[in-house]
Amino acid sequence: MTQEIGGFAAFNLNPNILAAVTATGYEEPSAIQQQSIPIIMAGHDMIGQAQTGTGKTAAFALPILHRIDPAKREPQALILAPTRELALQVATAFETYAKQMPGVTVVAVYGGAPMGPQLKAIRNGAQIVVATPGRLCDHLRRDEKVLATVNHLVLDEADEMLKLGFMDDLEVIFKALPATRQTVLFSATLPQSIRAIAERHLRDPQHVKIQTKTQTVTAIEQAHLLVHADQKTSAVLSLLEVEDFDALIMFVRTKQATLDLASALEAKGYKAAALNGDIAQNQRERVIDSLKDGRLDIVVATDVAARGLDVPRITHVFNVDMPYDPESYVHRIGRTGRAGREGRALLLVTPRERRMLQVIERVTGQKVAEVRLPDAQAVLDARIKKLTNSLSPLVAEAESTHGDLLDRLTADIGCSPRALAAALLCKATNGQALTLAAIEKERPLVPNNAPRGDRPERSGDRPERSDRERRAPVPLAEGRARCRTALGARDGIAAKNLLGAILNEGGLAREAIGRIQVRDSFSLVELPEDGLERLLTKLKDTRVAGKQLKLRRYRED
Ligand code: AMP
Repeated sequence: MTQEIGGFAAFNLNPNILAAVTATGYEEPSAIQQQSIPIIMAGHDMIGQAQTGTGKTAAFALPILHRIDPAKREPQALILAPTRELALQVATAFETYAKQMPGVTVVAVYGGAPMGPQLKAIRNGAQIVVATPGRLCDHLRRDEKVLATVNHLVLDEADEMLKLGFMDDLEVIFKALPATRQTVLFSATLPQSIRAIAERHLRDPQHVKIQTKTQTVTAIEQAHLLVHADQKTSAVLSLLEVEDFDALIMFVRTKQATLDLASALEAKGYKAAALNGDIAQNQRERVIDSLKDGRLDIVVATDVAARGLDVPRITHVFNVDMPYDPESYVHRIGRTGRAGREGRALLLVTPRERRMLQVIERVTGQKVAEVRLPDAQAVLDARIKKLTNSLSPLVAEAESTHGDLLDRLTADIGCSPRALAAALLCKATNGQALTLAAIEKERPLVPNNAPRGDRPERSGDRPERSDRERRAPVPLAEGRARCRTALGARDGIAAKNLLGAILNEGGLAREAIGRIQVRDSFSLVELPEDGLERLLTKLKDTRVAGKQLKLRRYRED
């Protein structure tokens, strides 16, 4: 067994769980895992202050799996998550960690999917139920005993659940569970409302908080790029085109990711290699030596494997996967800017990880500016600059060594020197795209398709109304659905009328309602996906400005 796996082995988890964790490629527990796993395994209630990206899902999933009895075919653990996306993500994580536990099944229960199969899966004996509160309450209304056997409850992203207006639903769910259950609450922030829940529903909870102390990072220019998880490799390849680097280290989370990314880079002609805990020590040293002397330019590493790495040539650090905590971020980017040189650090942020970015900014006391993917013009300029740099030192000498050959070839081929030089460039650049049109065609990502999530609309440069009405809708935030009413500005409607009507008659919290867009002949409102059908039924007879609201789910396609 390698030294790194010792980290997880020390918890004494069920060997089948440990085997699954090892297979995922995790090398060592993150800080929140280190602290939470023993507490939850011992059966205590717990309050964990941690956000997405810290490894919090495994922090509760592993000990909960350890505590359930696979032989019992009944719900034993309930995980509540604010959105359907998170519920699915958590359910998938449980499935991964339970891969080698025969008989363990997981069901995800959320709005927008038929209720029957969900209830059937619960009744068929799924031990782990991952649910959004609204939909779970719908199930409880049909069968109030459905959760009677649950003895572990996890509230994931509790603050988000309250923001989405799930307080009442949570109370209903607490009542439906045995009082003797274990309760674990994870939340990025602990406002009074969360503390009040903990006081009422947790028994003598232990607190876990990842301590963050302010750290300064000087001489390193930092930036971040918003990107979807499945677009990371393309984004990295685009960034490499325009970043002027000497040597570069990229951080990812798993061994597999080091291998995948390193081979994608090699395929594009970069001198790249992977560095992870599975690679023997002497081989790791060889990789680092190669990075030092320029036989390699890029190393793709996990945190563990990059420990102690000190290579003055490193001008750039790419955080391709988010670090677990700000300390590790500071540690990672400290690989550049060595010996008084300047360094540059780029962080890829997926929509769910934006909160972690804010924590990093707070802890480091520095703004991490947003950059966009380079556009085709920037890529073209960078390629031409590289070509210029590689050719200009040769020009003076080459004329004397190869000038006569040029004359002979132009004569033999019967072409102009310009035509011959163009043919040579074509050969030398190996078919690389060197016009705007060709670059645009080859690029899988365009700079402005990065996820914007719930960014507010900019108020400047608005097109005329007719244009605006045709314009594609702004991307939806996670957990929200867009609804449409045929009432618009021409009916005398303003956003505040819609807001008032939905708040009063729908019984939602203000935070539960997203963007409201009033157009001339219709309006769009963003509402919580979970419990949407119930809400629309409630609003069935609502009137605004004397007319029927008739709010319906709006499909963009
Ligand atoms: P979470 O904070 O639970 O959303 O986890 C964020 C990501 O980190 C997920 O992609 C996990 O698969 C990954 N992850 C969690 N724990 C570890 C670990 N100990 N080592 C490597 N990756 C991890």
